[in-house]
Amino acid sequence: MYNGLIDRYRQWMPLQASDTVITLQEGNTPLIAMPRLAAAISEHVTLYAKFDGMNPTGSFKDRGMTVAVSHAVSQGFKVVMCASTGNTSASAAAYAARAGVRCVVLIPGGKIALGKLSQAVAHGAKIIAIDGNFDTALSLVRELCNEHPIALVNSVNPFRIHGQKTAAFEVIDQLGEAPDYHALPVGNAGNITAIWQGYNEYRKAGLSNSMPAMLGFQAAGAAPIVLGRAVDNPETVATAIRIGNPASWSGALKARDESNGRIESVTDDEILSAYRLLPSLEGIFVEPACAAPVAGLLNLGKSGFFTKPCVVVLTLTGHGLKDPDCALGLAETPQLVPAEKSAVLKAIGL
Ligand SMILES: *Cc1c(COP(=O)(O)O)cnc(C)c1O
Repeated sequence: MYNGLIDRYRQWMPLQASDTVITLQEGNTPLIAMPRLAAAISEHVTLYAKFDGMNPTGSFKDRGMTVAVSHAVSQGFKVVMCASTGNTSASAAAYAARAGVRCVVLIPGGKIALGKLSQAVAHGAKIIAIDGNFDTALSLVRELCNEHPIALVNSVNPFRIHGQKTAAFEVIDQLGEAPDYHALPVGNAGNITAIWQGYNEYRKAGLSNSMPAMLGFQAAGAAPIVLGRAVDNPETVATAIRIGNPASWSGALKARDESNGRIESVTDDEILSAYRLLPSLEGIFVEPACAAPVAGLLNLGKSGFFTKPCVVVLTLTGHGLKDPDCALGLAETPQLVPAEKSAVLKAIGL
C-alpha cells in the first residue's frame, strides 16, 4: 500500500525516526503523455505532464506540507500559520486538521480563488484577510512566527522544500531518466528551487545520468525575476503566481543558471489562451497558473527553441476546480431550449 511521500522517500527527508508522520497519501501523482499539446509546441517535443493537481488538496503544496506539518507537530507546535495566495492555505488547513492543531492563514484581501478558500473554510482554519498583497502577508507571518510559538509553513520553511523535491524523484522514477527540460510556473519560487534540488540529489546518488534545463515562467504583471527587480503591485489572472518579491528568488536563479535554463514571462492573454487550449486538447483541467508554462512552451516552440528531439516534463501545479470562476468567466452561459428532441437537435446543429 502507498503511504505517502515521507514513507516512500524517508531516507531523503530530514526527519527523525521518532517523528510523527502526518500524511494524506500525497505524491505519487500521474505523469501523463500529452501528444496533442506537444504537437502544438514543436515537432521535436515529447511532452509529459506531472499532474500535481491530483494531490489530496488539489495542488503540489501537499508535498511540502506533509513534511512541514509532520516536523512542526513533532517539535510540539500547536499552531501553524502561513501567508497564501490560496493553495498553501488549503493544504495547511487540511494537514493541520489531520494533525489536530490550529491553522491560521493570512490572505491578500479579495484575491483568493473560490475553491481554495472553500477548502480552508471546510478544514476549520482561522482565515484573516489583510488589506495588502501576498508579499506583505508573508512578512507579517514571518515576524509573528519569530515572536510567538507558531510554526511557519510557507515554503521559506526548509521542510517544505524537502517535500516538494520529491516531484523530481517521481519524474525520474516514472520516466526512468531525467527529462531534457522541466517547465513550471514560478511565483514565490519555492517549487523551482525544490525540484532542482531533487534532480541534484538523485543525480548525486547515481539514480539518474543527466539533469534537465529548468524552464520557469512568470506572469508579465508579476515577473520580478525576469525584470530583475521586485514588483510593488503584482497583477495577473493567475492568482497563484501573483507575487512581486519571491522569497526563494536566489533559489530560482540558481536553478536557472546551474541548469542552463530560462525564466521568462508570459502575458495574461497568452495565459488565458493556453488555459483554454490545454483542457480542450488533453482532457486535463488545471488552474490558470499552470497555463503560464504551457504558454511559455508554446512561445519557445514558435521561436525555434527546440531544434532536436527532446523530452519535456511540465508540472501542472493545481487542479482546475480550484478556480471555477476563471473557467466560467470565459464561457458562454448554456443555451436554453424547449424540452423537445427537435429543439435539442437544432441546437446541436443536426
Ligand atoms: C503555489 C503555486 C504556484 C507557485 O509556486 P511557487 O513555489 O510559489 O513558485 C504555482 N501554481 C500553483 C497552482 C500554486 O499553488
